[in-house]
Amino acid sequence: MTGVQTCALPIIREHLDQYRNAEETRQHQLGSQLEKLNNRVHGMEDEGENLRKRLQEKHEQAVRDPLTGLHNRLAYDERIVQEFARWKRYDKPMVLMMIDIDHFKNINDNYGHKAGDKALVLIANQISNNLRESDFLARFGGEEFVVLMPETDIDSAIIASDKLLKAVEACEFHYQNAKVNITISAGLAQLRKDDNTDTLFKRADAAMYRAKETGRNRCLVEDPTD
Ligand code: GH3
Ligand code: MG
Ligand code: MG
Repeated sequence: MTGVQTCALPIIREHLDQYRNAEETRQHQLGSQLEKLNNRVHGMEDEGENLRKRLQEKHEQAVRDPLTGLHNRLAYDERIVQEFARWKRYDKPMVLMMIDIDHFKNINDNYGHKAGDKALVLIANQISNNLRESDFLARFGGEEFVVLMPETDIDSAIIASDKLLKAVEACEFHYQNAKVNITISAGLAQLRKDDNTDTLFKRADAAMYRAKETGRNRCLVEDPTD
């Protein structure tokens, strides 16, 4: 080995060490930057998931009636559009049932608004427990309920409504140890070729009013000439 070569070796080694140190520092910095970035991405993912959950909760609240826990009118408005689209596509029969509690004002007047609220919850549960899983029930307003019965024709809906009327009549609503009789009236309409969601609703509503006029505690089918 020449003298020049012997002198150059430590210098080369020093340069190499410096280079290695600088490279290690750079790798270390890159590593911690990557970790920070990862943490931020995870944080954003968690935030996104939380927002999605909160939005879902808010929507669930918005479509529920706080007194009875049933779906409300907003939920009905959303559902009827979906069911109508499904009916158009698959062409299976669908029936809408309107329900209204008979002489409900008397319950409030005779026993008070709180008792009226309790009766409403009881009837809502009774209706809900006597429908099929595939039926959709909503409290439309006050003491009125609406049921969508997909893949159901009018004859099956009549059988279902008979069952409902009997179940409500059998309800055990008591005020100061005395049984209070509660009944409902209902109207049925089946979707027709030239229907829209409003025309279907109006026919069922009209049938329900005829049920009221003709004595209550009954369910009538739509007028074919309506
Ligand atoms: P009909 O047989 O003709 O339907 O008679 P009705 O008394 O049931 O009908 P009306 O429309 O005269 O009265 C409805 C009553 O329902 C009046 C209203 O105060 C009561 N009601 C509506 N919503 C509630 C509620 O959330 N709680 C209570 N307690 N009463 C309610
Ligand atoms: Mg009413
Ligand atoms: Mg009523």
